[in-house]
Amino acid sequence: MMEIIDAHTHWGPSITLGTNVTTEELLQQAEESGVERIVIFPFPSTAIEDERINDKVLELGKRNRKFIPYYYIPEDLRPIPVKKTFYGGKWHWVRGIQDCSSNYQVLDDPRLDHFIEASEAIDLPIVFEEELAFTEAFVRKTKNLKIIIPHLGMLGGNPLDFLQTFKGRENVFFDTALAGPETIMRFVKEIGKERVLFGSDIPFGTMKRELEKILSLQMGDDEKEWILSKNLKRLIGWDEKKD
Ligand SMILES: [Zn+2]
Repeated sequence: MMEIIDAHTHWGPSITLGTNVTTEELLQQAEESGVERIVIFPFPSTAIEDERINDKVLELGKRNRKFIPYYYIPEDLRPIPVKKTFYGGKWHWVRGIQDCSSNYQVLDDPRLDHFIEASEAIDLPIVFEEELAFTEAFVRKTKNLKIIIPHLGMLGGNPLDFLQTFKGRENVFFDTALAGPETIMRFVKEIGKERVLFGSDIPFGTMKRELEKILSLQMGDDEKEWILSKNLKRLIGWDEKKD
């Protein structure tokens, strides 16, 4: 049977949304959909208010091996802490207006070079969400930092512009959360199954629906397996200890 990992969910309380995604909720959705493991990161508003939520995410990952904890990158651009067992990072409209507009001053922040250098050395993927022009400028600063653009770039611009811009960049990946099946197919055709990852974006999407979208794509199961788990495992440097 095909292994399935959800590469994009939010866990815990959200201050701005006034909701709370519980551990039980995620486990229940996973159970219903046949998803074996779940990438989790905190909600932006919660992490900005009190970054100790990162440690809670980490603790959950230690307690229950179904969860793969990612570090929410704080506004002062501290990289993923090496000594803690995070498997990736989440960069979310840093000091910008969330889900809407980038703050280009961040690109001139003297701490950014250190962030990129340290992140390259840590070699974990970063789910990276900003406008296209910001993302392009960021990607130009790094040769091999692996970044995953959520929603095929949908919130930062037109997905097809993202596709065109990053087609030749082997270190840039995309997740499928909330994107349309035709656009997902287009991405797979142009950049290959190795650079597309399944994600649900709970609570904004459901695991079941987002997964059905991938399962119904016109391609073989071996190809789907790359999207559903193989790519993520490769990106996070999956070790047997996790099993
Ligand atoms: Zn999200």
